[in-house]
Formats: sequence, structure tokens, C-alpha cells
Amino acid sequence: MPQLTVAQARLADSVGENVEVRGWVRTRRDSKGGFSFLELNDGSCFGNLQVVVSGELTNYESDVLRLTAGCSIAVTGELKASPAKGQATELAADEIKVLGWADPETYQLQKKRHSFEFLRTIAHLRPRTNTFGAVARVRNQICRSIHDFFQEEGFLYVHTPVITASDCEGAGEMFRVTTLGANEKPAAADAANDFFGRPAFLTVSGQLEAETYACSLGKVYTFGPTFRAENSNTSRHLAEFWMVEPEMAFFDLDDNMALAERFLKRVFGDVLQHCDEDMRFFAERIEDSAIDTLKGVVDSEFLRLSYTEAVELLAKSGKKFEFPVGWGQDLQAEHERYLTEEKFRCPVILHDYPATIKPFYMRLNDDGKTVRAMDVLVPRVGEIIGGSQREERLDVLAERMAAQELDADSYWWYTDLRRYGTVPHAGFGLGLERTVQFATGMANIRDVIPFPRTPGHAEF
Ligand code: ATP
Ligand code: MN
Repeated sequence: MPQLTVAQARLADSVGENVEVRGWVRTRRDSKGGFSFLELNDGSCFGNLQVVVSGELTNYESDVLRLTAGCSIAVTGELKASPAKGQATELAADEIKVLGWADPETYQLQKKRHSFEFLRTIAHLRPRTNTFGAVARVRNQICRSIHDFFQEEGFLYVHTPVITASDCEGAGEMFRVTTLGANEKPAAADAANDFFGRPAFLTVSGQLEAETYACSLGKVYTFGPTFRAENSNTSRHLAEFWMVEPEMAFFDLDDNMALAERFLKRVFGDVLQHCDEDMRFFAERIEDSAIDTLKGVVDSEFLRLSYTEAVELLAKSGKKFEFPVGWGQDLQAEHERYLTEEKFRCPVILHDYPATIKPFYMRLNDDGKTVRAMDVLVPRVGEIIGGSQREERLDVLAERMAAQELDADSYWWYTDLRRYGTVPHAGFGLGLERTVQFATGMANIRDVIPFPRTPGHAEF
């Protein structure tokens, strides 16, 4: 007998087939006529499969009438056209096997509605809810589109290391990786005795390593977990998050911006096309504007605005901001959101930031004050992409490293790229979780990654 997923069993053209479907019971409803309805879900799609169980089944009283939310079952029977609204098919059960019980006294998802805060405390069970199932499927679609887009554009997927000795962002917000301490006396806790014979950290970005491949293979991207020990308890920051970082030889900042725009449009276009049922749920239950905002991104032209122009606009806006705006200061989320949500109501690419607030590797402009940086801002989330054209001139790079008090020796391999066959190049980093947040309308970034790591939280 063919085994079908719920998604397959819900298709109208499966009517008439005898099949087996396995999954978890969402609800059971008993009818006066001596039969029952089960809602079965297996995660293959948002919707449930309705199972109609006749009271004639031999284990109807012993098993079926004891089924509660969370029990796992295998059902065999014939798929029939369903008279009910919102579903093409239903399964008329010939046999129901209980695979696992879920004691309703202790099963925490017995109650239908829970707060997202509470669900974070049962991160092992929350994928069984409608919301987290939908988030998981949208997240999967986004990852798939990321790979599709870059592969179709001729990019090479490279794997940059998770453990690294360099601080890419120069911000010092890194987790140390060490084998010292647990089994040794603290006196021995100097880097020379450590596992790698030097201080080592979890990477904050794969960019520097990706540049080595771009400067030989052309267009590459890396996609993996990154780590930041920033103690920012916000709805947009995680200590562990996933980042996709394309890096392109022979690209300048304009090419970089054009690529970022095409890339985001492709990813969100795919979500609209392939996650229709999940997206309708987000629009109905989570964020009214979820679908319209995505359509807006796909159809709009991203606005390009220099940092200097943005600061002037903000100063003239007449808005009261918590943080003051002034040339040379980093823009805060409230400023970014004002620009993209209120002023322009579309994605905005800010570019050419003051050199003093950006990392050493960004290319210095002829004014000597600004660098070829870009941030892509979107409504609700703010910054979703950060990138730049890289400094390819060895002397300028060396000056910038000195100005930021970096130890040039430990970047010897990075500066070698400028010593031998240097080329203009550019790249950016897209935060995967902010992308999922934006697509779904989920308010908190902790609810779009399976197991969020934030200050004080790493239980699961
Ligand atoms: P922010 O100013 O919002 O902290 P950033 O300037 O530190 O961001 P970048 O270093 O440019 O960010 O990183 C590139 C992208 O990675 C960001 O645009 C964002 O999408 C994502 N990102 C950065 N930090 C985090 C974090 N702590 N948690 C989740 N995503 C992040
Ligand atoms: Mn940050």
C-alpha cells in the first residue's frame, strides 16, 4: 500500500486511492452517530488531513476514543472527496495503529494557544505548532532559494571555517574557543598551550576567508553559522545566527547593490510562490501586512541614498528620535526604520558611510572620509544586509589597519591578496534569521531559528 504524506493525501487527484498516512493527531472530535473525526498533521504542509473513523473499527473504543493531541498514529484507508469546506479529500480509516501515546495530563501542547514566550521554554515541542511548522517551511524555502539563486548565477559555494583566529568585524565581540580550564590548572591558561597554539574564536563572518576564494575563483558564496558575543537583548539579535555571504571579484559597489536587490527579490518572490498556504497563515494570524510587504519588495525599485543624504533627511524630518543624528555617528534602528517605513515605504540601500564607523576592509573614497559601504534596510526589520566594496590597494589597507590599531601581522594572508594580483572586489552578508523574520512577520528573531542562543539562554 502506498505511503503518502499529508500534503500528498490532500491533493484532489489522490481520491480513490488506498493509502497509508502517518502523523500526529491535532484534534479528535466524536460524532453522535458513533464515529469520530481526527485532524492529522505530519508537517509536510500547513493543513491537516481529516480522518473519518467509523465506530465499527475493532479498536475504536480501546484506542481511537483515547486519542488526544500529540499522539502518533498510522492510518490506512481510502481517500475520498470531502464534502467539508477547505479540503479536497478526507481519509476513511480501515485501520488505525497507535504508534505513541501523549498523556494529556502532562503534554504541554494540549492547550491550543500559548504565548511565544512560553513556547521558547519548550523549544523541543514548539515545531508541532502551526506557527513553528510554518516558520520552518518558510525558512527551508529561503535557504533553497539562496542556493538556487547563487548556483544559477554561476557562484561557487565555499565553506569558510567556523573556528578562526581573526576578528573580521574588528568589534571584539567574539566567543573564545579553548580546551584550557576544564582539565588544567588556570596557570597553564595561556594561548601557547591551548589546542590551536594561539587564541581561537568562533567566527563572526566568513568574509575574509571567502575573499581568498573570490580572488581566484571569481564569484563565490559562503553560508553558515556565525557567532557574536554582543550583549544585545533585542528582537533582532542572536548570539548564533546564519549568514550568507557572497563575494565577487571585479565587482564595484554599484554591482554589489544591484546583486543584493536582485537576490532579495528572487528569495521573496520564491516564498510568495511556494509558501502560499503558510504565508496566508502569517498574514491572517501574525502580521496583516506580511504578504503585501513581500509583494512590495518584489515589485519596488530599491531606493539608493548616501549616508550623508540620509543624515540630512533625518535632521530635517522633525521626528523626535531617542538617539540624536549627526554626521559621523552610526544610524540606530529607529533611524533606519524611519527611512524605510515612513519616509520612502520601500527598501532603501544606504551607501558611503563615514570610515570611522566601518571596518578596516571597506574601500576608502577619494574624499578620504567615507568608505564604499552599503546597508540594505527593509520595513519592520531595518538592516537586513551589510556589505561593501573591499579595499584592494595594499597601502591604503595598511593605513586603515593601523588607524584601527589592528595587528597587521596576524592578517598577513589577507594582505597577501593585495600583494599578488589584487583586483577590485565586493560582497555582502545577509542575515538568514532577519530574512525569515521579514518574510513571516514574526516579531522576535528567537522565534525564527529552531534553538535560539541569546545571553543566558542555551538550554536546548
Ligand atoms: P546590526 O547593526 O543590526 O547589529 P551589523 O551591522 O552588526 O548589524 P553586519 O556585521 O553587517 O551587521 O552583518 C551582516 C548581517 O548579518 C546584518 O545585516 C544582519 O542581517 C545580520 N546580523 C548581524 N548581527 C546579527 C545578530 N546578532 N543576530 C542576527 N543577525 C545578525
Ligand atoms: Mn551588530
